[in-house]
Amino acid sequence: MSSVAYVVQPPMTAKCPTRWDIHARCAVRMPDEEIDLPVGTWLLTLPPAENGRSAPPHYRLADGRVICLDDSLTADQATVLTDPQALVALTAYQPLEQAVLEEWGLWTEQIDPSAPFRLIRCPLCGGTAFTTVAFSEIWCDGCHAQFNVRYTAGDPGFVVDCTMRYLQYQDTHYLIPRNEGLLLTMVFKNGGDPFDMNHTSQCHRQDCSEEQTALTDGQDSPLRAGLHACGLGEVYSWSFYGHVPTVYQYERHEYHELLWPEVGCFDKHHIDPEHSRGGHTEAWPGTAFVSVTGFTREDSQNMESAAAMLQGDNSKNPSRDTLATVLQTLAARPSQAPYVNARSSWPHRKYLAEGEKYLLHRWLLQREKVDGYITAVPVWLVVVDTTEDRHSHKWQVVGDNICIGCGKPMTSADLDMAVNRFRPWDTPHGHCRKMWQQYGWRPTLFGAGTDGAPSTDEGR
Ligand SMILES: [Zn+2]
Ligand SMILES: [Zn+2]
Ligand SMILES: [Zn+2]
Repeated sequence: MSSVAYVVQPPMTAKCPTRWDIHARCAVRMPDEEIDLPVGTWLLTLPPAENGRSAPPHYRLADGRVICLDDSLTADQATVLTDPQALVALTAYQPLEQAVLEEWGLWTEQIDPSAPFRLIRCPLCGGTAFTTVAFSEIWCDGCHAQFNVRYTAGDPGFVVDCTMRYLQYQDTHYLIPRNEGLLLTMVFKNGGDPFDMNHTSQCHRQDCSEEQTALTDGQDSPLRAGLHACGLGEVYSWSFYGHVPTVYQYERHEYHELLWPEVGCFDKHHIDPEHSRGGHTEAWPGTAFVSVTGFTREDSQNMESAAAMLQGDNSKNPSRDTLATVLQTLAARPSQAPYVNARSSWPHRKYLAEGEKYLLHRWLLQREKVDGYITAVPVWLVVVDTTEDRHSHKWQVVGDNICIGCGKPMTSADLDMAVNRFRPWDTPHGHCRKMWQQYGWRPTLFGAGTDGAPSTDEGR
């Protein structure tokens, strides 16, 4: 079908079409903006909707924008554009969606007027450069975290998931086993246009004015710096959750060595006696996996009964207790991957000093009373890279004081206050106390007193 183009005669106004008009599957509505069409504006008629829905007539401007009018143009509103080169130029333009369909065979649905990867930053390395392969996979150029975009449950906006299957440890701030079960999710909804820097009557922030538009700082938000902060709508920062990794894949992980400090660096009340010989080393990420049995509830109960029978047996068989212990251990082991609740502790990178990273060291497990399922909370360490050559990876532990409740580093003053003060809600980590008790956790603090304890200064 050959398109017809027009030149506007008297100036007129048009409307931005709604998303419904452009693509019936997207319920996202574009802002109801009015567009002025001065004398001489070129308009290319667009074919009517393929799905047969009635829609106002649509036209495309020379810059690619699509507009709609209440009724088709009449002879006294516009003349037919006849310049053949102008017609070629107007019809040669392809919107991104059309080009992707023709070149890649993919329908593109724009999920929000603001594209997700122009707004977010990578939660693992803080990077803002993302790459796609054949529009089917997106990863962070820095640390190779992978991303997936979804619709919200009905509101305009988007949901982004971040996974760590191919995480590169050099650039990330977080050392996490490469796995499929753990993820981070953020939500952006009911937002305006954060790229529109105009101060308008819609601006709601105290710090936004004609002279200085309020901008995001990129610090405490999943979004990058320099966006108009009034145009954000509801933003829910990255939530860390999923399932504990259970199957250690050797091909995915090189050998990493975790070096614990010599005894004396730690508060001796909190150190695990097993580690008290100093300079203790561990293999990582093995510590961050949990073995599971696949047993049913009945299997576990049978094993517990068998262990009890063995212990009740008075015959002098020396292997009896050993066998009973093995059975008890297996019966107590999770049958399937423990669940990591939404918003599990995810320490903020602003507390890291130069060269430091967070390392997911291990999981604390708890059997829920209601349904018997096992939940897990992560224990994070602060480490620095002490690798000397290309063939090994060595991480020196410099902090084991990341609160399992809120993910903030703890000082011994925080600990004293949280444990000894009567009103928990007005002390740092006051609300985390319950969780420490549930999971039997205590921080291991450097030095015996407050001296040398890592600072929790917010401005760091
Ligand atoms: Zn990254
Ligand atoms: Zn503003
Ligand atoms: Zn806390």
